[in-house]
Formats: sequence, C-alpha cells, structure tokens
Amino acid sequence: MALNELTAHELKTLLDRGEVSAHEATTAVLERIEATDDTLNAFISVDAEGALSQAAAADRRRAAGEDPGMLGGVPVALKDLLCVAGGHTTCGSRMLENYIAPYDATVVSRLRQAGAVIIGKTNLDEFAMGSSTESSYYGVTRNPHDNSRVAGGSSGGSAAAVAADQTILAIGSDTGGSVRQPAAYCGVVGLKPTYGRVSRYGLTAYASSLDQIGPLTKDVQDAAWTLEAIAGHDRFDSTSIQAQVPAYSQSFNRGIKGMRIGLAREHLPPELDDRIAAVTRQAALSLEHCGAELVDLELPVAGRGEYCLSSFYLIAMGESSANLARYDGVKYGHRAHGATDLQSMYQNTRNQGFGDEVKRRIILGTYVLSAGYYDAYYLKAQQVRTLIRRDFEQAFARCDALLAPVTPGPAFRIGEKTDDPLQMYLTDIYTVAVNLAGIPAISVPCGLSAEGLPISVQLLGPPLQEEKLLQLGHALECSARPC
Ligand code: GLN
Repeated sequence: MALNELTAHELKTLLDRGEVSAHEATTAVLERIEATDDTLNAFISVDAEGALSQAAAADRRRAAGEDPGMLGGVPVALKDLLCVAGGHTTCGSRMLENYIAPYDATVVSRLRQAGAVIIGKTNLDEFAMGSSTESSYYGVTRNPHDNSRVAGGSSGGSAAAVAADQTILAIGSDTGGSVRQPAAYCGVVGLKPTYGRVSRYGLTAYASSLDQIGPLTKDVQDAAWTLEAIAGHDRFDSTSIQAQVPAYSQSFNRGIKGMRIGLAREHLPPELDDRIAAVTRQAALSLEHCGAELVDLELPVAGRGEYCLSSFYLIAMGESSANLARYDGVKYGHRAHGATDLQSMYQNTRNQGFGDEVKRRIILGTYVLSAGYYDAYYLKAQQVRTLIRRDFEQAFARCDALLAPVTPGPAFRIGEKTDDPLQMYLTDIYTVAVNLAGIPAISVPCGLSAEGLPISVQLLGPPLQEEKLLQLGHALECSARPC
C-alpha cells in the first residue's frame, strides 16, 4: 500500500518503527495531490516547502530519541477557514483572497504540538455557507467516487482530500453538518464534537453559537486520535469547555455491550430514499449484533425537518450577518478601488468581495434580526431551539446514543441544486438539529449504493459523550469490514 493510502495510526506505527520517514510520507501525499487535484480541486493552497520542512523536523526528533507526538510526522490538511500564521486563509471567498493570517488557530497549534505536518488548506463553500462546496470562489470540489457529483459541503475539500488519499487526515468545521455531510458523500469518517469541546479560536466565524471544529479521517481510530490531540479548554475561546480530555485513543474500541441505541420514528419516514433507509436499518442490526439494545422512540421537534431547518437557517443567517459585518474594506481583506466616499467604499467592497449565497444570508440575516421581525423570526427560532434541546435530553434519558441517517440521499450531481437554495438547504435535514442542541455526532460510512456512491449513518450522543460515539462507530466499522 502506498504511504498516502494509510491511516494515521498505520503510518504512525511504521514511522515509530523507523520503517519509513515523515519525509517519505509527506512526499507521497504531495505527489498524490499533484496527480489528482487538477480534477478534484480539493485544495485551495498547498505548502509543499513548509510541509517538507515540518516532516524533516519530525524525522530529526525521532532520530534524536525525542517523543515525536501522537501525530508525529502525519500529514494533515486544514479547511481554509482556519488561520495558519503567515499563510493564506481565504475562507473560499474573494473577500479574503490576499489575506495572510497573523497567528495560528488553537487547533493548528495543538496539531503542531502533536507533531502533525500541515500540508495545505482545503476548499469549502464561501465562509462555510453551503452544502456542496459549489459556492467557493475557487471552484467546485469534485467527489472522488464520481467526478460529476459534489463532495458535499461545506468541508468538501477536506472530505475529498481524505477520500482520495491526498492527505492522511483533515480538519473541517461543522455548523449545521459541514463535517458529517461531506464525510458521508465521500465515504470517510466525520466527527462533530460537543459545542465547546474544541476551541474555535482562529476559526473564521460563520454562526458562533453553532460552529464546531472536527476531524475527517479514514477510520474511527484516527478520529479518536485527532480529537484527543485537538480537544480541551483554551483561554482564547471563552465557550471552550473546562473538562478533562479523555484518552479517546485508548477507549474507542472498548465495545458496546449493553449500550442502548435509540431509533427515532421521525428519522426513518416512509418517504426516505430506499438506499439510505436500508443502510440505516442494517446499521441498527449490526449494532444489535455487537451487543447493543435497540430502543424505538420519538423526537417530535428535534426529528422534524420543518422545525429544525427553519430554526437553523434563521439563527445561522442572523449570526452570520453580524459576523460578516467586519468585512468592510477597512480592517483587512478586499477593498474596492475608485470609491468616492466611505459609504460607496463599503458597498463596492462587499458587493465585489462576497458571492451570491453569502449576500443572500447577510440580507436575510439582517432582516430576521431587525426591529419588528426579531420576535416573529429570530426569537421564535431560539424558542424552537430550546424545544429541540429538550427533545434530545428526554431521548438520552432512555438511551446512550441515537442512530440516524446523515443525508436524505447520496451525493448529488454538480449543478443539480444551485438554482434552488431551498433544495440545497433541504439536504441538511438530518444534520442541523445536532448543532442547535450542541451535542456531538459522528458520521460513519456503512455501505455503497448500486451506483457505487458511499452511504453513511450518524450516531448522536449527549454532551461530552464522544467516547461512546467513537465506540459505536468503531463497532459499525468492524461489522462493515472485519478488523
Ligand atoms: N449547509 C449548512 C449551511 O449552509 C451548514 C454549513 C456548515 O455546517 N458550515 O449553513
């Protein structure tokens, strides 16, 4: 097997035994990017020189007998929404085309401390607003399983890069499904941790009460390793949780005997795509076979798309309109030339710098926050959010985790939904409730459709129960392929 095809833990074993070098692994990854990225467009920028020098440093540490770190010498790709000191951070937008970040995001410093080699920045929907990476200013990312289809979004570049072995693992962010959904479309593992489990410092804000960073990996063990490396309290993010980080790398395979898995009626409606329903039911049987107990339950608010999607989009758009006010041509990023006064400079800058989807969100977000409409839309959405959270609390009083589909269908064709934003938003029907409630969820590949498109299921857990989700995810993975 070529080095770029390995998981992080497989590569780490070879590195620790001295059978391969970080330089060789990084070279393999860079060559793969070179050979495939003209087609896939998973990367916005690749830092070959920087990556090779980080790899050399990892090799030197190993040779000197120092601890290389748990990801010592492992190539990692970062969604281009994360700041890396001295490097471009475009957020998929023209607005930040020439922006150079002055500091490392906390996740990036933690990855560096763990010895990871940062190879480049991956493509995404502009400012993470989208479900297909089609709204990126830098072009669409193609699905490695079928180049005529989307890789999902907004972390589409991270998912495609992992699936196409252009990297060993990647980091994404999930505001309403952006780690889990592209992971599902590309057949890789995607973990959205509890809100606050991973610091958001240095992650460009989309909707601050929903954003959370998570890994996209080739298997569940790598997700456990990566989470262990990046999780934990950070004094630069006041919403990061002050709680011990468990040794996920040691506990992900402890088995699931006796765990209770909830299946909500609303998650398997009669109109659900047959392929998704069959894979979800099969996953439930596999978990039962591994010793879990299945529990039927209801999620009258959190399981219903009409409540979850509308409250999600109202809140996300409201928060994003406030967060994106900072791109005014003054502090950083794009500035329009030729304006005659301050007002027209703001207008031209924002008009030129933002794409259509971002503008739509800012306009709608400003509207729902405005006096007179705030109570009717934004406040209502927050009230529904509370009901969603309560629904989950009640469900988790009866079970350890919930099993649900990630998407209503497999990856769709490029261009299929770009003319109809509502159709695009509907693809998030199963993912947004998790962000509204702040709970963790993992998306695990469980099969292929007849056309060869990956299909995943997700496991949802109570706050800070990532360990259980990793254990369940690992059990599913083992039943899909003997381990
Ligand atoms: N698809 C959702 C949106 O467009 C969620 C995106 C995300 O999680 N960043 O807002």
